[in-house]
Amino acid sequence: MGVFSLESVIEAFEASTKDAAQVQRETLRWILEENSEAEYLQSLGLAGRTDPESFKACVPLVTHKDLEPYVQRIADGDFSPVLTGSPITSLSLSSGTTQGRPKLVPFNEELVKSTMQIYRTSYAFRNKEFPTMNGKALQFIYSSKQFMTKGGLTATTATTNVYRSEQFKHTMKDIQSQCCSPDEVIFGSDFHQSLYCHLLCGLIFSEEVQLISSTFAHSLVHAFRTFEQVWEELCDDIGEGVLSNRITVPAMRDAVSKILKPNPELANTIRDKCVGLSNWYGMVPVLWPNAKYVYGIMTGSMEPYLKKLRHYAGSLPLMSADYGSSEGWIGANINPSLAPESATFAVLPDIAYFEFIPLSEKSEDQELEQSSSTTPNTELEPVGLTEVEVGKEYEIVFTNVAGLYRYRLGDVVKVAGFHNSTPELRFVRRRSLLLTINIDKNTEKDLQLAVEEATKLLAAEKLEVVDFSSHVDVSTDPGHYVIFWELSGNAREDVLSNCCDCLDRAFIDAGYVSSRKVRSIGPLELRIVKRGTFQKILDHFLSLGAAVSQFKTPRCVGQSNSKVLQILDDNVTDNYFSSAYD
Ligand code: AMP
Repeated sequence: MGVFSLESVIEAFEASTKDAAQVQRETLRWILEENSEAEYLQSLGLAGRTDPESFKACVPLVTHKDLEPYVQRIADGDFSPVLTGSPITSLSLSSGTTQGRPKLVPFNEELVKSTMQIYRTSYAFRNKEFPTMNGKALQFIYSSKQFMTKGGLTATTATTNVYRSEQFKHTMKDIQSQCCSPDEVIFGSDFHQSLYCHLLCGLIFSEEVQLISSTFAHSLVHAFRTFEQVWEELCDDIGEGVLSNRITVPAMRDAVSKILKPNPELANTIRDKCVGLSNWYGMVPVLWPNAKYVYGIMTGSMEPYLKKLRHYAGSLPLMSADYGSSEGWIGANINPSLAPESATFAVLPDIAYFEFIPLSEKSEDQELEQSSSTTPNTELEPVGLTEVEVGKEYEIVFTNVAGLYRYRLGDVVKVAGFHNSTPELRFVRRRSLLLTINIDKNTEKDLQLAVEEATKLLAAEKLEVVDFSSHVDVSTDPGHYVIFWELSGNAREDVLSNCCDCLDRAFIDAGYVSSRKVRSIGPLELRIVKRGTFQKILDHFLSLGAAVSQFKTPRCVGQSNSKVLQILDDNVTDNYFSSAYD
């Protein structure tokens, strides 16, 4: 990009959104020309046509499952143009926490470019309202393991692919977000050690830290909760200038030891600050006095962590980061002053070709399972980027230069408005249902709302839900919903019993309510799990190659995810059955 100028980034964005429909046509042409040799496209009879009409007529809507055989061939070493003109040389492993198992998706340099474009765009807008000085960023970012596929391609999480790229460092410098920690921490092989070192480096450079961030808000809350446990040890390290012996990864030890010098004064200041805090409220601005904001994805499945994050952030603004996926980016948050709950993402019309499947009440009744690409009769035709309507909900479909054509991401978004002619989207939820036994239908969002409602009863007890998940138990007859809660402390039985009733009542979906009334769904069960259970689940996903940077707590654990179910069940301390419909 040459010399980075915020104005030119904003100008480029404004220009591309002026006539987004035209930019979309050009983007589609570019994607199809780049990949005209791809076997997948050739087999569909496009015969060189690149207009949206021919494209839609020839190319089917697909889900990941439909593309799996092609991706597998690439992974197995087929270097012919399968999905893309130039062969794919590395793959990304999606977090897999939403679907229970990781998906392999194509990765290429174009995806790195669009990631940087998104980062720069949102930064340009953010910096107008919340300027940062030249300094550092305390970034809780972690790489994941890298696998070699049978065909010799590297496969790792998309975030790791990005952190490893040359462009990442340049961009972080341009957007004044250079990480406090050395690379050996980001790429360390042990997440717990990396986290400790991130905290340590953040404290060493505390005066210089301009912002605190992670990819998803979960990692921020996790980091601050860990800080509560290890702050004294961190202070000892800083006071003595000797790294705790819990850091055993040699490269990480060497790199962090180089920047750790005895600084008793700093150690004492941090100690005094920590002791002066009440229940860690507002610890972020106290410890990092020059930080301007806290940044990370806070929408969707991250919303449940907002309350705790606000507690730690005190007076500092929380800013929700951009919207994308391992498969490709979608939009940038260009309205940084909106509260995270209302964050919107302006679609960048030149990073992919977008379509939107309108969700009507009717099509919702035919709710699709992610794994099937059969289009039910009631499903409405997808519309183009500039044809979406404000206030309506859609499922996102995109086509990008990394070999995904009319790909259903499985996310539902709502159009909040337009910036020039490109829509600003609000993330609503994953499309697939979480909880369903017969005619009942509850999504991730419904579960989140139910949990929010029930946790109000805990507030008086000064307790919080650290994390939660759910499960449909059909081993009983009738089947019933199970909600797992990890709590920050011990709650009284009567309180939990009320919470359980409240959860049951909070699922207001008509199918659920009527099934409960006629007892074709049994009483909801609340299972309380031991402290640290969700940490075990995180560790389990990490052992499978997931990255903390992309981790999303599975909000519903299916029977097929037996390992996670077992972790949950092995740690249950109490359970309660609802009497809400007795
Ligand atoms: P991954 O599988 O790790 O690539 O995660 C991608 C998924 O994370 C998306 O399909 C969304 O469901 C979710 N996601 C990503 N960005 C956001 C965001 N800004 N708000 C809400 N959910 C998001």
